[in-house]
Amino acid sequence: ASVDLMERAAPTRHRTQDRRHETFKTEVAAFANTPDTDPSLAGNRAWALELLERSAYTTLGRQTIEDARIHGPAGLETLVRQTREAGTRWQARDAQVRSWLLHQAGHALAHRRGDLVAVMAAEAGKTVAQADVEVSEAIDFAHYYAESLLRLEAVDGAVFVPSALTVVTPPWNFPVAIPAGSMLAALAAGSAVVVKPAPQAQRCAAVVVEALWQAGIPREALRLVTVPEGPLSKALVAHSDVDRVILTGGWETANLFRSWRPELRLHAETSGKNALVVTPSADLDLAVADLVQSAFGHAGQKCSAASLGILVGSVGDSERFRRQLVDAVRSIHVAHPTDPSAEMGPLVETPGEKLRSGLTELGEGESWLVEPEQLDATGRLWSPGVRTGVRPGSEFHRTEYFGPVLGLMHAPDLPTAITWQNATDYGLTAGLHSLDPQEISTWVDRVEAGNLYVNRGTTGAIVQRQPFGGWKRSTVGPTTKAGGPNYLVRLGEWTPRPLRR
Ligand code: GLU
Repeated sequence: ASVDLMERAAPTRHRTQDRRHETFKTEVAAFANTPDTDPSLAGNRAWALELLERSAYTTLGRQTIEDARIHGPAGLETLVRQTREAGTRWQARDAQVRSWLLHQAGHALAHRRGDLVAVMAAEAGKTVAQADVEVSEAIDFAHYYAESLLRLEAVDGAVFVPSALTVVTPPWNFPVAIPAGSMLAALAAGSAVVVKPAPQAQRCAAVVVEALWQAGIPREALRLVTVPEGPLSKALVAHSDVDRVILTGGWETANLFRSWRPELRLHAETSGKNALVVTPSADLDLAVADLVQSAFGHAGQKCSAASLGILVGSVGDSERFRRQLVDAVRSIHVAHPTDPSAEMGPLVETPGEKLRSGLTELGEGESWLVEPEQLDATGRLWSPGVRTGVRPGSEFHRTEYFGPVLGLMHAPDLPTAITWQNATDYGLTAGLHSLDPQEISTWVDRVEAGNLYVNRGTTGAIVQRQPFGGWKRSTVGPTTKAGGPNYLVRLGEWTPRPLRR
């Protein structure tokens, strides 16, 4: 109820519209991004405080995940059969009705904004600000795909044959927006969905599913399951009656899925090792702010995070840049999200071997500008770290750590910086801070990544204006960018329209 009373800000995101993306606007005319909650309004701050208090003891989603347990291989068979049948009924419904239901889903998610923020704080350690933008993104996916579906239906000369059953395996790092986006896309494309959330964030996914059911999406066509990793989980993903799997996770996981069932139609958004390049022409104040936000937002646990800053020429020697960066990183308030002033929360779990090495071990020639520290006994709360002197080809240059550690590289010139930026196995996001048009166009021409950001951070893609997806090992299968004009097109088959008619 508190959501209805909220004062909402003017949609500031609209003002950042990049003119190059305006063509999308005409394609999906009825779409506008949902504004985030404006914390400068007193009512919203009170709302956030109330939510944080609630997040400490919330049971949101718990019953739904209890009910979602599947019992053994026989339970799995029944689930797959029933959901496939529901899929054929779902795709037979009028496109107008499906689109309307998706819009309803958007409204239901908006209505539950407070619950979604609270459960993300409780289960995934997200701060209110990080959780709030994620709800906006989930709502955007609903309305955007509702419109995309009508556009798809209107295409002449071909028939779109939807899949009957799609399995969605979302990650824990965007535990609301990514499950919501993947489920809504599959539903929009006419498929029923079985969603198997990451074990670390099941309750977040459960609240999303509840909202979609409340909106009128048939329960039989949208099934939540909780399966422990192991044979049953493998049996679901590899089941021969599953038409498609939408995965967001590691590149290794995508390959594992493929090895289980080589003919699987897999749409996977996978890992990243992203860098932000700063040239001497840049607005250095802005560059520092964007680098810090891109590296340490949600404690660096984003595929889109910048884990490298490549400083060109004199930027690398600039005492002012170094001091501003160090001050900015040291001033980040790390705390559990129930502390309203928390800017960076805990890691979703204690660091595994790889992340621990990123937080504690230096490679040859490297030194700490800001050394990360473990802040509490749980092992999940870490202060952010910055290392300098990262060498091309080194371990840190190539590895995705998925945590709060940034490495700096010093490049003699822009072409070298671009070569280093491209010299990883991945190609998800890439950033450039430069005010020189020539540098910008050189960079745009040569950089190998799905999402290029100029004079902006590397995270926080916005539905429709920055469709999200990568190259190289950042994607597996026939993926197009999520939140973009062609995403639904790839979730079905096109055949020529029969001549008779
Ligand atoms: N879409 C998110 C962003 O632009 C990243 C998603 C991910 O980490 O998988 O920041």
